[in-house]
Amino acid sequence: MAVTVIVGAQWGDEGKGKLTDLLAAGADVVVRYQGGNNAGHTVVVDQEEYKLHLIPSGILYPETLCIMGDGTVIDPECLAQEYDGLTRRGISCDNLRISGNAHVIMPYHRLLDALQEDARGAASIGTTRRGIGPAYTDKTARDPIPVRMWDLLDKRLLRRRVEGQLAEKNTLLRTLYDAEPLEVEPIVEEVWGYAQGVAKHVCDTRALLFERIAAGDDIVMEGAQGTFLDLDYGTYPFVTSSHPVAGGACLGTGLGPTAIDSVLLVTKTYTTRVGSGPFPTEQDNEIGNLIRERGREYGTTTGRPRRCGWLDGVALKTAVRINGATSLGLTLLDVLDGLETVNVCTAYEIDGHRHIVVPSDASRLSEATPIYREMPGWCCDTTQVRKYEDLPQAARDYVSLLEEIAGVPASIVSVGPGREQTIRRGPL
Ligand code: GDP
Repeated sequence: MAVTVIVGAQWGDEGKGKLTDLLAAGADVVVRYQGGNNAGHTVVVDQEEYKLHLIPSGILYPETLCIMGDGTVIDPECLAQEYDGLTRRGISCDNLRISGNAHVIMPYHRLLDALQEDARGAASIGTTRRGIGPAYTDKTARDPIPVRMWDLLDKRLLRRRVEGQLAEKNTLLRTLYDAEPLEVEPIVEEVWGYAQGVAKHVCDTRALLFERIAAGDDIVMEGAQGTFLDLDYGTYPFVTSSHPVAGGACLGTGLGPTAIDSVLLVTKTYTTRVGSGPFPTEQDNEIGNLIRERGREYGTTTGRPRRCGWLDGVALKTAVRINGATSLGLTLLDVLDGLETVNVCTAYEIDGHRHIVVPSDASRLSEATPIYREMPGWCCDTTQVRKYEDLPQAARDYVSLLEEIAGVPASIVSVGPGREQTIRRGPL
C-alpha cells in the first residue's frame, strides 16, 4: 500500500495529467483534492487525446476508483458535460465518487467572477472566470450557507440554499455592478437538471478513502494547478483560491500527513505561466516563442497562450521544500531538443542580495534579476529514448543539474506526451 501525492512545481500545466495517468495504471484509487474546472489535464492514450478538467484522469482505467475530494469545487454543468463526453467515447464513469462536502460552483459564481475581473481592468488577477474564486469565497464565508454536493440530492434544500444566496448576491449585483438581479427558480432548475446524471456518485468520500487505505490500496492524489498558484505559498494575489501544494492533499481529502508516503513534484524542463503575475525567467522573445510552439503551450482550459521562459531553479528548490517532495517528475525534456544552449536560473538578485529560494513576500519576484547557468544543449531528438542511459550526455547533465538544485532525484523523465514516452528511474 502506498499513498503518493502528485503536485505541480510551477504555475500549473506541468504535465501532471500525463504522470497521474501513468501512475494510475498501477493504482487502485485516484483522488483530486482541490480546485475545480480551472484545471486542465491532457492525457494521450493510443493517439486519442482526452482533456479532463474535473474528473480525475484515473477514469481512463476501468478498474480504478476515482474520487473528487472534499476540497474540490464542482460546476455541475461542466461535470455533466465531461461525464457525458467520456461516456459517449466508451469510457465508463461507474467508478466515480464525489464528496458530498465539495462545494458547488453556481451560475452566480461564474457571473460574479466575470464581473469582478472586468471591474479590475488592467489590474486583473487573471482568473479563468469559471466561478472558482467566488465559490471558495462563499465556502469560507459560511453564511448564507452555500450549496454543497449533498444539497443536489434534495431539491427543496437546494432551493432554500439558492434563496439565501440570491438575497445577498442580488444586492451585490445591483449595487456594485449595476447588473440585473437573478431569479431563484431558473437557477434551481438548471443546476438540478445537470445534477441528475451524477447524483448517484455523491457519497462520504472520506470514509471511503479510510476503508481503501485499511484494505491496503495504492492511492494517487492528483494535484491541480501548481505550487506557485497556492493561496498561501504562491505569488499572491496572482494565485488560485485553494491549496495545490501537497499539504492541500490532506485538507482536501481528510487524510492526515502521515498517511502520505511520497510526493512526486512535477516540473517542466522550462517554465510557463498563464495569466498575470511575476515570472522572473520569462523569455518574451524568440526563445519564448520557440518553447511555446514546440511545447504547444496554449491553455487546456482557456486556450490562452502561455508565457514561456527558462527553468527557474530558485522556484524549483522552494517547491521541493514547500511540498516535502521525495522525487521529481521531469516533463517535456523533448521540447528543448533543438536548442544549442539551455539556461537554468540558479539564483535571483533582489536589491543587491542573492536569493536561492523564493522570498516569502513573493511580490518581490517582480524585482528579481535571474542569474543563469548556461548548459550546452543536445541538439537531437529524444522522443524515442526509453532508457536513461540512451539520453545524450548533455541532456543527462541537464537533468543532473536540476537534481542537484532540487536535492532530490528525478524518478521520471518524460520525452513526449504519449504514455510510452517515459523513462522510469527508481522509486518515487
Ligand atoms: P497538467 O495540467 O499539469 O496536466 O498539464 P497540461 O495537460 O495542461 O499540459 C501538459 C501538456 O504537455 C499536455 O498537452 C501533455 O500532453 C503534454 N506533455 C506532457 N508531458 C510531455 C512531454 O514530456 N513532452 C511533450 N512534448 N508533451 C508533454
